[in-house]
Amino acid sequence: MPDNIGSIEEKYRETMAAFSDACRRAGRSEDEVKMIAVSKTFPAESVKQAYRLGQRLFGENYVQELCEKEQNLPKDIEWHFIGRLQRNKVKYIIDKAVMIHSVDSPVLAREISRQALLKNREARVLLQVNLGAEESKAGFEREALRRGLEEIAELPGLQVLGLMTIGPYYDNPEDARALFREMRALKAEVASWAVKGIVMQYLSMGMSHDYTIAIEEGADFVRVGSAIFGQR
Ligand SMILES: *Cc1c(COP(=O)(O)O)cnc(C)c1O
Repeated sequence: MPDNIGSIEEKYRETMAAFSDACRRAGRSEDEVKMIAVSKTFPAESVKQAYRLGQRLFGENYVQELCEKEQNLPKDIEWHFIGRLQRNKVKYIIDKAVMIHSVDSPVLAREISRQALLKNREARVLLQVNLGAEESKAGFEREALRRGLEEIAELPGLQVLGLMTIGPYYDNPEDARALFREMRALKAEVASWAVKGIVMQYLSMGMSHDYTIAIEEGADFVRVGSAIFGQR
């Protein structure tokens, strides 16, 4: 796989160049689109290499791994939690993750709210949606989104700031475009519901093989792992 050829530095520079090109094509400012470097399963040393090249936003999927890295790496890193989150582990990351992208149920949201209040914080979260209703994926299906959102909007200590999705893998990344477009339309639709306490500011979508298309279609966060760090 070409992904594995070259150093993190080379891969990071290539990724940033493709990121910039995509922003330019989309007529978007590079400050308004954020790239999260997904460092799950890679050692702290790999995070440090990307950090030295200027990267500050990192994404992790596993609670323990996020906690260890957060403790041992520079304090100006923004950690984004993007993986499936068990309720009993919320307490470990509530004061470490700047954003939780993967809220997939009202019960999880309730626990995040509870832990945030205990720590006197406001948790920033995205709701994960599963537009393709894929069995293997977490997230709200379209029909359940409005009701879930209304329930979550009532919770103190928690701010919903947008939506996240993990699309299917397509051999041809172009095939992901339709889903990204649908996500953008959904963001507008949710905003139009005007649920009190809900802000539709961010869309988190696009990974190594399709982030440039996600940027063209309105992603505010792209989550890029293997293109920067190599195959897991
Ligand atoms: C692993 C992961 C990514 C990054 O995937 P790559 O294909 O390595 O870029 C992005 N989002 C989520 C939710 C992930 O679990």
